Amino acid sequence: MKDLGLTYPYKKLDPIFYNDEVTIPLKNPKLLSKNQQLINEIGLELNDDELTLLLNGKLEIKDFTPYAGAYSGHQFGYFTPNLGDGRALNFGSINGIHLQTKGLGVTKYSRYADGRAVLRSSIREYLLSEAMNGLGIPTTRALALIGSDTTVYRDKTEKCAVVMRTSPSWIRFGSFEFARIQHNVELSKQLADFVIEESFPDLKKLSNKYEELFFRVVDKTITLMALWQSVGFMHGVMNSDNMNIAGLTIDYGPFAFMEEFQKDYVCNHSDKEGRYAFSNQPFIARWNLLVLAESFKKFANHELLENYANKFIPRFKDQYFAIMGKKLGFNSVQSDDRELILEMFDILEICKIDYTVFFYYLSCENYDGIILMSENSEMIKMWLDKYQKRLEFETVLKSDRLFKMKKTNPKYVLKNYILQDVIADIENGNTELLNDILAIAQDPYSEYPKYEKYALPTPKNLAGFICSCSS
Ligand code: AMP
Ligand code: MG
Repeated sequence: MKDLGLTYPYKKLDPIFYNDEVTIPLKNPKLLSKNQQLINEIGLELNDDELTLLLNGKLEIKDFTPYAGAYSGHQFGYFTPNLGDGRALNFGSINGIHLQTKGLGVTKYSRYADGRAVLRSSIREYLLSEAMNGLGIPTTRALALIGSDTTVYRDKTEKCAVVMRTSPSWIRFGSFEFARIQHNVELSKQLADFVIEESFPDLKKLSNKYEELFFRVVDKTITLMALWQSVGFMHGVMNSDNMNIAGLTIDYGPFAFMEEFQKDYVCNHSDKEGRYAFSNQPFIARWNLLVLAESFKKFANHELLENYANKFIPRFKDQYFAIMGKKLGFNSVQSDDRELILEMFDILEICKIDYTVFFYYLSCENYDGIILMSENSEMIKMWLDKYQKRLEFETVLKSDRLFKMKKTNPKYVLKNYILQDVIADIENGNTELLNDILAIAQDPYSEYPKYEKYALPTPKNLAGFICSCSS
């Protein structure tokens, strides 16, 4: 029997918020990858066999009582009352970090689904959470990944896997929607107090703590959106149940990183109306915050909350343009900067230029490389001229500017075609690429000569790989 020192702070809430569950292990589990960096951070002392057993729900652990959380949510704009952890199991917490598996079988909240996660989507979540963390973007993380011989049917028969994810908070905007529909304001307040304790303890003593809590969620969400947009990350399913109260990226599904820049790109095959298009993400975040404000209505001043949420877009723009200025190497702010940046987006789109590679090449002063990528060299040359003239206003040493730009503009982002290569390799029984890509994800600003090809524009025949929600 292992003593991991697990605690269950969430279970202090009313039992309406969760259900105790049992694990339903996979057949022939095999450890595919472990995230030693995170294992060390958490201080988990397990050998590989024990880690495999842990992820498969078969490690004998002292005081182990896994549970699934209840939540509701607006999915593609429509309210769904009965969501919840349909395939996630909360294993308990170690020093404020909550461990959760995804794919260990059905729970009270599975509805008609099987409680499993397929290998390809588990690989995607495992790598992407580390990639976002490596980019300095708030996110849940991933501790390890096991594959198995258990199969489920999606569009075809597929192998199941389990990823263990970790987070300082698993509370979703939808958790408050769930509390609201219980028609007992004490339950909503209980949840709000829990979130304050867990994520914003400095608010505890304030007389207007619930309003302040909401303001903090808005602030965190604005920052998250500015960061997503700056790296060209598209979540794909920004339903309110996939929005984290502590401002973390959660629930990696059909996400994508921008390849050739297209401001209205839609990465989710099921999103026929483009609700979650790249350019729409900040607006959807604000929409979700307004939904959250509705759930706070009975115990906080709704007008104050709405007014605060309605300042989202101008405040988002300030943060976003500040980050974009840094990506371009601007230390100062000039009056025409926003115009230059907006013009850049139009030109990137018309010239079909790879977003990440563009900024990386700017950081290397590889202007010829940018022109070569462009489908309209005159246009991009014109913009590059303006950009270079703008740089003349900068007083910092060029070498310092380029050094800083290289720390802001990653050489690598995990585009879908790279993840497809990893998935193919794992399906063929090789784990080397998975673990190499994990290392790149964790430090995407460094050089990896063996993987130079992944720092180039996406090959045309592999670009635009689109996932659906089925996973
Ligand atoms: P998602 O689109 O992944 O955010 O999932 C939406 C809801 O469906 C959540 O409540 C999930 O827990 C649930 N869900 C998704 N896939 C499954 C599955 N295979 N088994 C059980 N529940 C699932
Ligand atoms: Mg979800």
